Amino acid sequence: MEIESHRQLHMFFFPFMAQGHNIPFIDIAKLFASHGVKSTLITTSVNAPLFSKAIQSSKNLGFEIELLVIKFPTEEVGLPQGCESSNLATTIEMKEKFFKATFLLEPQIEQILDQHRPHCLVADSFFPWATDVAAKFGIPRLNFQGTGFFPSCASLTVILHQPHKKVESDSELFTIPNFPIEIKMTRTQIPRFFEKNSESIMTKLFKESRESEERSYGIIVNSFYELEPDFADHYSNVFGRKAWHIGPVSLCNKAAEDKTEIRGMEASLDEHECLNWLNSKKPNSVVYICFGSLTNFADVELLEIALGLEASGQEFIWVVKKEKKEKDEWLPEGFESRMEGKGLIIRGWAPQVLILEHQAIGAFVTHCGWNSILEGVSSGVPMITWPVSAEQFYNEKLVTDILRTGVAVGSKQWASFVEVKKEASVKREAIEKAVTLVMVGDAAEEMRSRARTLGEMAKRAVEEGGSSFSDLTALIEELRSLGA
Ligand code: UDP
Repeated sequence: MEIESHRQLHMFFFPFMAQGHNIPFIDIAKLFASHGVKSTLITTSVNAPLFSKAIQSSKNLGFEIELLVIKFPTEEVGLPQGCESSNLATTIEMKEKFFKATFLLEPQIEQILDQHRPHCLVADSFFPWATDVAAKFGIPRLNFQGTGFFPSCASLTVILHQPHKKVESDSELFTIPNFPIEIKMTRTQIPRFFEKNSESIMTKLFKESRESEERSYGIIVNSFYELEPDFADHYSNVFGRKAWHIGPVSLCNKAAEDKTEIRGMEASLDEHECLNWLNSKKPNSVVYICFGSLTNFADVELLEIALGLEASGQEFIWVVKKEKKEKDEWLPEGFESRMEGKGLIIRGWAPQVLILEHQAIGAFVTHCGWNSILEGVSSGVPMITWPVSAEQFYNEKLVTDILRTGVAVGSKQWASFVEVKKEASVKREAIEKAVTLVMVGDAAEEMRSRARTLGEMAKRAVEEGGSSFSDLTALIEELRSLGA
């Protein structure tokens, strides 16, 4: 019995196939491995190469971490071969097929669990079926939903009370009811797939995810207590969720190479070139602009960003998900030559964590994806918030209204990831104004100082004795006691 109770904990980690999910999941698996847990990540063959460097670097440190490859059923749902990431499903039809395909993964996961009998399965909340599959073998399933306590509480409350249905117009503000802090929003900012009468596969998926979350063993949250204490408490006290905060998980990457290509993709620009450029700049003088892995802005919107940046007079690194063409329609005439030395455009994938941590970065224009928010918080930089989709409008409120480490650019309309805009809803003047507010003047200094304090808190949270470190070790102990 004695030997059995000290058996090494073996955990499986199963991320949804999208950059914004793979990245924190890899960090989480590495984190558990660094605490002596044998960690196995599960993904499909097209995604596998994105994991291999991270796994190798973790192994080099002596940790036990493996990758298990499953087949993604592209053919069965009529997706083109190789379309194994939600990032590659670029139309509504493709997205629907993609989500359908993920439901077909169940038998493979069942077989894997039966064969390996791990002590725990940490599965993405986009796999609602995973709770019951794990239960067949008496394996506790932990949920990872990739977002924080505040947005989770906000979205559960809005679904429950439907306050956006009680206002007369799209522009009328409503208050999120029964909430620890007063938060006002408009109904155009609420995710559309939460609509009760919507029949879309996304609505079904979110409903099933919530139900399976309630039945799961608990939830792992990429956050730290000090960031959102009222909402960490609200989540367990009001919604009865058992949750462990173990973040910011990106802070588990210490070496520079872990922060660059190992985070999923090869950077489009040589990291040394990027760092050399930043090294030549003064502290807090550069604005970093990046809208995550999924958001695609229309040319008209990019043009406004370019003009807004130029008008602000600030130096910048701007990440645009576009390939270089003979003539870039989205850039104003002569923009690149005017910005020579002042602005750097990265076309494609940027080493975001490395950039954000650089002392030259003075502000982060973000779409408010949760990973980006936490990476910005960890780096102690103030933000200019520009939410687009998913739960990003809630995340914005955390930054602007609660943490007060950023200002909103004025994005008002939630959109699905595949919608292409015909006109720019945020104009150059608004961009110039928001950038200036965060970069220049006394209010900017106050925001920066609050952001810096939060960044220090984030780092302390993951160090030994910190709140996230303690929650992680408590979770491991609890799982160990179950497996004994
Ligand atoms: N990311 C990056 N380089 C890029 C774009 C994104 O490293 O050029 C990373 C970013 O650091 C974050 C993730 O991709 O870890 C994006 O996740 P987030 O939740 O912010 O947004 P999503 O892509 O899911 O909308």
